Amino acid sequence: MDAKSVFVTVALMVLANGAVLANVYRDLPGALRPAAIRWQAGTALVALGSGFFAFGNFMPMPVMVTLANGTLLFGLGAYHRAFERFYGRRSSPADIAIAVAAVAGTFWLSAVEPCFICRVELTSAAWSLLLLRSMWLLHTMRVEDESRSRRMLIVIYGLVVIYVIGRVVVYLHLDVPRETTIATNDYGINLVSPMFVALLPVIGTTAFVLLCTERVKRQLEIAAATDYLTGLPNRRTLVADGNTAFRRTSATGVGLAVGVIDIDHFKAINDTHGHGVGDEVLAFTADCLKQAARKGDLVARTGGEEFVVLMDDLDLPAATAALERIRVAVADSRFSIDGTPVPITISAGVASCEPRDRDFDDVFRRADRALYLAKLAGRDRVEQAVA
Ligand code: GH3
Ligand code: MG
Ligand code: MG
Repeated sequence: MDAKSVFVTVALMVLANGAVLANVYRDLPGALRPAAIRWQAGTALVALGSGFFAFGNFMPMPVMVTLANGTLLFGLGAYHRAFERFYGRRSSPADIAIAVAAVAGTFWLSAVEPCFICRVELTSAAWSLLLLRSMWLLHTMRVEDESRSRRMLIVIYGLVVIYVIGRVVVYLHLDVPRETTIATNDYGINLVSPMFVALLPVIGTTAFVLLCTERVKRQLEIAAATDYLTGLPNRRTLVADGNTAFRRTSATGVGLAVGVIDIDHFKAINDTHGHGVGDEVLAFTADCLKQAARKGDLVARTGGEEFVVLMDDLDLPAATAALERIRVAVADSRFSIDGTPVPITISAGVASCEPRDRDFDDVFRRADRALYLAKLAGRDRVEQAVA
C-alpha cells in the first residue's frame, strides 16, 4: 500500500465516522450540540487534510502542503473547541494563533526556503502544543467528570503526542531530501503517519460520543435523585441513603437519627399568596434547612411541604437539639413577597435508631408520629418519638 492510498483510506474512514456522529447528533440534548458540531467540524477538516495529501498533487507542492497541514491543524483546533464547549469553558484564541503561525511557517518552508525536516519539526511542534492543550483541559476536568471516556481521550491524545515527537526523531535519523512530502512512499514512516492522523477522528470520535452519552446518563441519574423545585435529594434518595445508613448503624452500633419536618399552615400560604409564592416558600425553606443542618447530614424533600433530615452519629437528645436549632433558624428567617413578610414556621418529629427497629422505615415512622404530636401540641415545635 502506498502513502496516498493510506491517506485516501483514512479520509474515507474519517468521513464515515463523521457520518456516524452526524446521525447520533440528533439524539443529543441541545446543551451538547454546540460541542458535537465542533467535533464534527474537526472531523471534516481532518478528512479534508488527508484528502489534500492524497489528491493534492495537481497543485503546486507548497500550496498542497500548506493546505493539507493547515486543515489538519485547524481540525485539531476545532476538537479543542469541542472540549471547551463541552465543559462550558470560554474558548481562547491560542489554538488559532498556533495553527496560523504553523501554516505561515509551513508555506515559508515549502515555497520560499524549502526544508522538509524543518516543516516536520514546525508542524510537529504545533500538533504537540494543540494536543497538550486539549490533554490539559481534559485533565483539569477530572473532579467534575470522572468518566472513563475522558480518561480514554487523554490516552488517545497522549499516544498521538508520543507518535508526533517520535516521528521527528525518526526523520532526523533518516537522510531526507529538502524537497519531499510525507505523502511519498520513500519512507515506511510515511505510511504510519496517516494512521495516527486517523486515531483522533476515528477512535477519538467514539470516545467523544461516549463522553456525551455518559454526561446524559449522569444528568438523568441526578434528575432521578433530585427534587426539581428545591434541588434537594428526593424521597428515592432518602430511602436509599436511609437504608444504607440503617445497615451501617446495625453493624457498627453508631447512632442514626431521623427528623421529619413539615411546614405549618402551608395551605394558608398557598391560598393567600398563590401557588407560585408557595413554591418560592418551599425553595426558601429548603435553603434554610440546608444551611442550618450539619454539613454531612442529608436534607431531603420527601413530598409537598415535608422534608427529612438524616443525621448520622447522633443520639436522641443531640438530634432533638439539632432539630430545635433548625426550627429556630426557619422561624427567624425573613421571607417576604413584594415587601409583605410571610412568616414561616415548621414542626418536626425526631427519632433515633433503637435495637428493636428492623429497618429504616421503622425509625422513619416513629419520627413521623412525633411530628403528628408536634402539630397537635400547637405547631412551631419539635417533638421526640416516644419509645
Ligand atoms: P399543617 O400545619 O397541619 O401542616 O397544615 P398545612 O396547611 O401545612 O398542611 P396541608 O396538608 O393541609 O396542606 C399542604 C398543602 O401543600 C396542600 C398542597 O396543595 C400544598 N402543596 C403540596 N405540594 C406543593 C407544591 O409543590 N407547591 C405548592 N405551592 N404547594 C404544594
Ligand atoms: Mg404542613
Ligand atoms: Mg404536610
